Amino acid sequence: MSYRRIPPPTRTLARISNRGERGRVGVHALTATTPGRPLPLITQENEFFWTSGADGTLRFQECQACDALIHPPAPVCRYCRSRDIGIRAVSGKATLAGFTLNQRFSLPGMPAPYVVAQVAISEDPRIRLTTTLVECDPEQLELGQRVEVVFEHLDDVWLPLFRPIPDAPPAALPDDEIAPERFGEHVRPMLTQRNSRTRSRSPASACRRSVAG
Ligand SMILES: [Zn+2]
Repeated sequence: MSYRRIPPPTRTLARISNRGERGRVGVHALTATTPGRPLPLITQENEFFWTSGADGTLRFQECQACDALIHPPAPVCRYCRSRDIGIRAVSGKATLAGFTLNQRFSLPGMPAPYVVAQVAISEDPRIRLTTTLVECDPEQLELGQRVEVVFEHLDDVWLPLFRPIPDAPPAALPDDEIAPERFGEHVRPMLTQRNSRTRSRSPASACRRSVAG
C-alpha cells in the first residue's frame, strides 16, 4: 500500500485572525471554510519549538539542573522543580513507540490515510511527540523502528514530522513512566451526581472540585 503525502494547505483568514489570541492552547477551529491543515497556536512559551525547524534542527526545553528534556514547554521542570530552563538542540532521531493508521477520517489538509504516531526522542525517551509519519509504508511499520525528524513548513510553523531511517536496526521500546495497567490509578473518577453530593460535605473536596472547574 502506498502512502499519500499530505498536500500543502491553503492559508486561511480564519487562522491568521487566531494569531492574536496568544496564551490559549489548542488547534485552530475547523470550519467548512478552513481548507488548511490544523496548525498549533503559537504562544511565547512554545514559539521556539514550532519555529525550530527553520534551520532543520529539532529543539526542546532542557532543565539546566537535572538535564531532563521538557515537553510541552513549561516554566518549571516536572522532575526536579527547577526554574532554570534552557533550550537544547537534539539529533532529531527517535524510536517509534506507538502508531495508528487512520484510514477513514480526513481533516482539512490531511486526507486519510495517514499515520498518527508517538515517537520517543533519543536524547530523553520520556519525551514522546505525537506526530505524523511520512515517507513510509504503513504496512511495514513496527514498534521500535528508528525514525528521524523531517520538517514541514506551513505558514509560520515548522511541523516536526518523522520518517523511518532506512536500514537502521530497531531499538528497544522505551520504558513507560506509568505502566499501562496502572493508568487507572492516575485518573480521577468521573464526577457523578451521587459522589458530587458526598464530596460537597467536605471543604477539601469542594476545593478540589472548584479547581477542576
Ligand atoms: Zn530538572
